[in-house]
Amino acid sequence: MEYLELINCMRCGMCLPHCPTYKETFLETASPRGRVALIRKVAEGGLDISERLLTFLSLCLDCQACASACPCGVNAGELVADFTCERREGRALTIMEELILRRLLPHPDRLEVAIGPLRAYQRLGLQKIVRRLGILKMFPEKVERMEGLLPTLPRRPLRQLIDEITPAEGKERGTVGFFLGCVMSLVFSQASYATIRLLAALGYRVITPKAQKCCGAPNVLAGDRSGLLEAARFNSELFSRYEVDCIVTDCGGCGAELKKYRSHLADNPTAAAFSDKVLDISELLARHCEDLRPRLGALPVKVTYHDACHIAHGQGIRQEPRKLLALIPGLEFRELSEADACCGSAGTYNITRPAMADRVLQRKLDNIKATSAAVLVTSNPGCLLQLRKGLADDNVPLRVSHLTELLYESLRRGLP
Ligand code: SF4
Ligand code: SF4
Repeated sequence: MEYLELINCMRCGMCLPHCPTYKETFLETASPRGRVALIRKVAEGGLDISERLLTFLSLCLDCQACASACPCGVNAGELVADFTCERREGRALTIMEELILRRLLPHPDRLEVAIGPLRAYQRLGLQKIVRRLGILKMFPEKVERMEGLLPTLPRRPLRQLIDEITPAEGKERGTVGFFLGCVMSLVFSQASYATIRLLAALGYRVITPKAQKCCGAPNVLAGDRSGLLEAARFNSELFSRYEVDCIVTDCGGCGAELKKYRSHLADNPTAAAFSDKVLDISELLARHCEDLRPRLGALPVKVTYHDACHIAHGQGIRQEPRKLLALIPGLEFRELSEADACCGSAGTYNITRPAMADRVLQRKLDNIKATSAAVLVTSNPGCLLQLRKGLADDNVPLRVSHLTELLYESLRRGLP
């Protein structure tokens, strides 16, 4: 952890109004400034690590809204994550962590097999029966919450449906490596299919290496640094075997992590070259606005946009998605109040800290409803899951879409 960053905090409080947990509690210990002060005190030996301290820190969503607001470059969210990670370093993984982080996530084929029973649970109508009879109430709350987030799964993961190489349509302008995130392939395959089609339509040959592994973000959440470094080494080495101009992802969480491979593996030039090539899909598409504009068909609908933390705060991307939405003829854009505030998903936070996650989500839902939009666009799988569930529970008939789904729909409408 960077001690220098800790002492850089001048306690100005400019981060406070941006911190979701502070806005809900008005407690200094639930604010970025308070969290930095607590960690500093521990680092200087003036405070013992107690359960109470860890509980305060665990309330942080690691949304990094504080980092965007801080004039001194202090990133309280990252400091809390590093602090937690350092404490966990060296400890053995639990059986469940071992199973998920080592046996499943690094093996996309196993992951695809493991999700089979969930697909069967939905296709056989068991999900409807279980929900109607309230059977989940008999299980721990965590199970009920996880099940509640489960959307209708596609028949097959996208990784199994696409070829490793998708040719460009028309004159080829370059080659893109596509990092297909695990959740995007397994759950939001339609969105990633739209991403590939948009890239091909713009003249890019798209290479999706089938052997790619999870980006390592779940390892960070569990404090599993060695698993993260293994993922970073593997993926950068894999993509270095292909001649690509850039590496695109349509998953905000993956993009933020992939861009950090350079710092995770500081002495590894392959990882640095990999990170330098990573772009969020909106960054690449926004470079082609003039090509896209005449090809898009009308979508006369009111749309609002939620900035996923990993995209807005993690990668500093805010204007590109809005620029792209503005290209769609007939689309009426409604800016969302507190658009870059966390939705409460935050990895597994909505499962592990349900009470605070629900408060943060409710604020987001109220802001969304105030826009009177018919479509909510966002580009991170965690946000898509959380907001779809929140809006459905609130009986708000609003469609939640990934940015590329909407753009591809408009592109198809523009076809002769
Ligand atoms: S973290 Fe940054 S914005 Fe917050 S109190 Fe410290 S210096 Fe000010
Ligand atoms: S990361 Fe988010 S929740 Fe954590 S201190 Fe910063 S603003 Fe608050």
